[in-house]
Amino acid sequence: MPRPIQATIHPSALRHNLARLRQAAGDARVWGIVKANAYGHGIERVFDALRGADGLGLLDLDEAERVRALGWRGPVLLLEGAFEARDLELCSRLGLWHTVHCDEQIDMLALHKTHAPHRVFLKMNTGMNRLGFPPHRFRAAWARLEALPQVDEITLMTHFSDADGDRGVAHQLRVFEEATRDLPGERTLANSAALLRFGSEAGVRADWVRPGIAVYGSSPDHPTHALGHWDLQPAMTLASRVIAMQQAAPGDTVGYGSTFRAEVPTRVGIVACGYADGYPRHAGTGTPVLVDGQRTRTLGRVSMDMLAVDLTDLPGCGTGSEVTLWGRAAGGAQLAIDEVARAAGTVGYELMCALAPRVPVSMA
Ligand code: PLP
Repeated sequence: MPRPIQATIHPSALRHNLARLRQAAGDARVWGIVKANAYGHGIERVFDALRGADGLGLLDLDEAERVRALGWRGPVLLLEGAFEARDLELCSRLGLWHTVHCDEQIDMLALHKTHAPHRVFLKMNTGMNRLGFPPHRFRAAWARLEALPQVDEITLMTHFSDADGDRGVAHQLRVFEEATRDLPGERTLANSAALLRFGSEAGVRADWVRPGIAVYGSSPDHPTHALGHWDLQPAMTLASRVIAMQQAAPGDTVGYGSTFRAEVPTRVGIVACGYADGYPRHAGTGTPVLVDGQRTRTLGRVSMDMLAVDLTDLPGCGTGSEVTLWGRAAGGAQLAIDEVARAAGTVGYELMCALAPRVPVSMA
């Protein structure tokens, strides 16, 4: 018998989330961000549900080839742009739009022989200090690109570092607007958090928005900025079953390192899911979990293939009970991946992306 662990992708949730994001975006066009293999969901699995996006944003040429092979004729944006000359050849061949964030990429474009001019997204570093031209050098970069016969359209772009945090977007937005004043071209700034938290503020939505995490139904991480009112639905469920039961007497411990010690008689369910499946090892005692749709907590350390849950107050649950690690349970109860992530000191993004290849994935 195979291990009972299973991930499920919910296309209806993806469609629903995309519709909500469209609502939030107003007149702006919506990139569906599908980098990192669609945040771990699988590009091929999400593709059909995301056909309604205006474009697909991703990182790797391999992913760009995959979406073209699936029949996607719409815009594809390489979020980090081209790294070497042959990447530009592929951009020309596949009609990819690409980010330009440094002088070397402009030098490469200037040497590139293309029959069809490129559409590029010129990126400004407005405070993230990751990719992009500093504001004072942005115009010069724009002018260089504008003069190239290889380029036919330049979109102005930045990325917010703290749209999900306390600083918000105001400072970066101001820097971007000041440095791009009078420059022609479309603009794109907002990720999920910026769109959902600040989308009603002038300038944030601009011409294109670039939500990623929200497409998959998770919140950008910030406990006090819950985005619940957007009613996003989880697009991934990770589920397993209780495969064994233990009875811990007061003083007994559970799992490696004996980090959980029972104070009262405790019914312990052992679940076929561990960190080798992508469940976070740093989720300590108390991480929420659903057993037969009812909320309880994990006990002790997560091991490679198993974890323990507290069934003391769930007398009807035992070997064979369904365990929802995140996502949707059979009866309709839900557990947000963000809750699990928070308990493990990480973000939903990481958990989605870390789903292990050994976990079988089905479509709902
Ligand atoms: N745009 C760019 C340039 C990104 O790097 C990312 C993700 O890191 C996104 C958009 C989507 O961000 P999020 O998943 O937070 O919506």
